[in-house]
Amino acid sequence: MSIQMKHLVVIGTGLIGGSVALALKRAGCVERITGVGRSVANLEEAVRLGVIDDFSHDIEKAVVDADMVLVAVPVAACEQVFEALAKSLPDKAVITDAGSTKQSVMASAERYLKHPSQFVPAHPVAGSEHSGAAAAFSELFEDKKCILTPNEQTDAKALAQVQALWEAVGARVKIMSAAEHDDVLAAVSHLPHLAAFAIVNAVGKSDHAFRLAAGGFRDFTRIASSSPEMWRDIALCNQSAIVDKIDALQEELSVLRDALKARDGDALLDKFASAKQARDKWMSKYGDKL
Ligand code: NAD
Repeated sequence: MSIQMKHLVVIGTGLIGGSVALALKRAGCVERITGVGRSVANLEEAVRLGVIDDFSHDIEKAVVDADMVLVAVPVAACEQVFEALAKSLPDKAVITDAGSTKQSVMASAERYLKHPSQFVPAHPVAGSEHSGAAAAFSELFEDKKCILTPNEQTDAKALAQVQALWEAVGARVKIMSAAEHDDVLAAVSHLPHLAAFAIVNAVGKSDHAFRLAAGGFRDFTRIASSSPEMWRDIALCNQSAIVDKIDALQEELSVLRDALKARDGDALLDKFASAKQARDKWMSKYGDKL
C-alpha cells in the first residue's frame, strides 16, 4: 500500500519529526506539512530549510483539518499533546508517534483520544545524539527498523496507513507488543544510554582525564551527548524495565570487580571472551543493517 495525504501535522518538529517530514516530501506523499512546537526559532528554521510548509503553536487549531498527525515530542509530553489534539481532531484522522517508549504513550492515547483505535504507536529505531529541525535529514530512516505496537483495538485501516507512512520514509516495519518493545529497548538502547551518562559523570570529574581520552572513550560515550530532556522522559516512562537492566549490569560489574580483586585472570578472560564472541556474532549477522 502506498500513502498519499493532503495535510500532515508534525507535533515536535525536531530531529525525528523533521526527518519524517523531509522524507515524505521527497517521496511526494504529502501536499502540506504543518509543524507544531515550542520554539519559534526552531520552527522558523524548519520552514527556511523546507522541512515544513507552515507552523503553529496551537495544537488545537493546527489539527482541525489534518489527515494524519505525527507526535514526535519527548515521551512524557505526549500526554498533554494528546489532550490538546483530542479537542479538535477530525474523526477520520490517523495518529502515529515516534516515542522511544510505547506502553506509557499508549496509556496516554487511551486516556485522552476520542478514538484511540485510530492511534498506531511507532518507534523508528534510528536517530542520533543531535536535536532540532536543523539536524533533520531525509535519509535518516533509510533501511532502518521501525517498530509498530498496535493492540487488539487498533483499527486495521489505520495500521495499514501508518505502516505505509513509515515504509514511505524508507523504514522496515516490524510489529510487536508494546510490553515486548519496552523490555527489549530497555536492554539494547535505554541501558547503554544510562551507562554512557554514568561513565561520563564518573570520569568527567577530572578535566585531566578528558584531556587524555581518545577514540575508545569517544565511541563509547557518543550517546551521552543526547538530549537530557528526552532521556529523562524515556527513563521515567520505562522505569521498571530499565531498573531490571541496571540490576543485571550491576551484577556483571560485581563479577568483574570480584575477579579483579582476587586477581583471577581466568575469570576475567572468560567474561571478556564471551562478550567478544557475542558481539562479533551480532556484528557479522546484523552489522550491515545498523
Ligand atoms: P528533538 O529534541 O530533536 O525534537 C523534539 C521537539 O519536540 C523539539 O522541537 C521540542 O521543542 C518539541 N516539543 C517538546 N515538548 C513539546 C510539546 N509539549 N509540544 C510541542 N512540541 C514539543 O527530539 P527528537 O530526537 O526528534 O525526539 C522526538 C521523539 O522521538 C522522542 O519521543 C524520542 O524518544 C523519539 N526518538 C528519538 C530518537 C533519537 O535518536 N533522537 C530515535 C527514535 C525515537
